[in-house]
Amino acid sequence: MTIKHSEDLFNEAQKYIPGGVNSPVRAFKSVGGNPIFISKGSGSKMIDVDGNEYIDYIGSWGPHLFGHNPQFLKSVLVQTIENSTSFGAPTEIEVKLAKLITELVPSVEMIRMVNSGTEATMSAIRAARGFTGREKFIKFEGCYHGHADYFLIKAGSGALTLGVPTSPGVTKGNAADTLMADYNDINSVKELITKNKNEIAAIIIEPIAGNMGVVIPDKNFLNELREICSEEKIILIFDEVMTGFRLAKGGAQEIFGINPDLTTFGKIIGAGLPVGAFGGRKDIMKMIAPVGPIYQAGTLSGNPLAMSAGYSALSYIKNHPEIYNQLEEKSSYLEKGFKENLKQLNKYFAMNRIGSMMCMFFTEEPVYNFKSAVKSDTNLYGKYFHEMLKRGIYLAPAQYEALFVSTAHSYDDLDKTIKAHYESLKSII
Ligand SMILES: *Cc1c(COP(=O)(O)O)cnc(C)c1O
Repeated sequence: MTIKHSEDLFNEAQKYIPGGVNSPVRAFKSVGGNPIFISKGSGSKMIDVDGNEYIDYIGSWGPHLFGHNPQFLKSVLVQTIENSTSFGAPTEIEVKLAKLITELVPSVEMIRMVNSGTEATMSAIRAARGFTGREKFIKFEGCYHGHADYFLIKAGSGALTLGVPTSPGVTKGNAADTLMADYNDINSVKELITKNKNEIAAIIIEPIAGNMGVVIPDKNFLNELREICSEEKIILIFDEVMTGFRLAKGGAQEIFGINPDLTTFGKIIGAGLPVGAFGGRKDIMKMIAPVGPIYQAGTLSGNPLAMSAGYSALSYIKNHPEIYNQLEEKSSYLEKGFKENLKQLNKYFAMNRIGSMMCMFFTEEPVYNFKSAVKSDTNLYGKYFHEMLKRGIYLAPAQYEALFVSTAHSYDDLDKTIKAHYESLKSII
């Protein structure tokens, strides 16, 4: 008899946790089947509760730039825990981390730590609203900024209609302040600004989108956004929760040479511990309590374990700038292998990659915004996902996510993945 711990645990989990998971995408609903329960990870690999080993391309949804449990991180956490898990009082490590971030990301002059990406984006919007005295903001269809009410909005029919809530519990009032534009389409932004003159506090954008699959911005589009925001006194917020420290030490803003007014971070900044942060221009950040009137707080914000993990990860990045070249080489090797497979199978699926973030869409048309992304055949993705999983490759259990390569992935891992990719596609198309 084979022991199926994952299945048993999932049945048990569903009794006590909605859907058996603490974040919906983990439940495999969009690919079918049941989630796998993980027991441990090391480097590029994860092992499930039934003893199966996988090459992991999710990396906890982004944080694991160095793979699972790198030695430098483990030692720092073990050392830190000796002195207690939390104080709720200032510590030196918070100052060191804040200083290091302002050094790595020059547009960030001051920064406030929070506990998740959602808190970071939520607080950045509040800061922008408080600073400008305006209430509306623009987001782009297909960009994800966490689960605060006013982000859970989809476009009505046409970019100029009011947004509509995508979740029960989000009020019409919330939806009314969220204006929806199209990614890579500057005219959709200009129209919204004309219609809402002097009412828009902020434009928030993933400077490289990673939550509708990977979608790469046109450089002119980002440049024009920057110009319009300066002209109209709108706060430009780069949501770098995913891209921060993944693509370059200074994030997507370093790659495109554009300084946003505010930036949000998460994921890599906590190296697997629950951390987020928002920061940017000093004149805006000085409006935050207790120095200014815009309220923002957190019992566990700046937690010593989380700060130590973040500080050791970012120090590693600072001291090893070569990792980004290595990540680029490995990721481009993987992309080439995938593309060669597609050629042999005579299928030219869209493949978007920048640095160690990539995504294959099950459509042969180019993907540059939300509307083109949703042309992907997600049923086929589901089948592909399960074929890869059978072959020991752990991808995101949903099409519209990024595949992340870490420094821990070996060329042997990549070769196995390329082979599995070929066999998987061959069996389903
Ligand atoms: C993951 C993510 C968030 C939300 O972060 P959480 O820590 O899950 O709350 C926000 N923005 C972007 C771009 C993300 O990728």
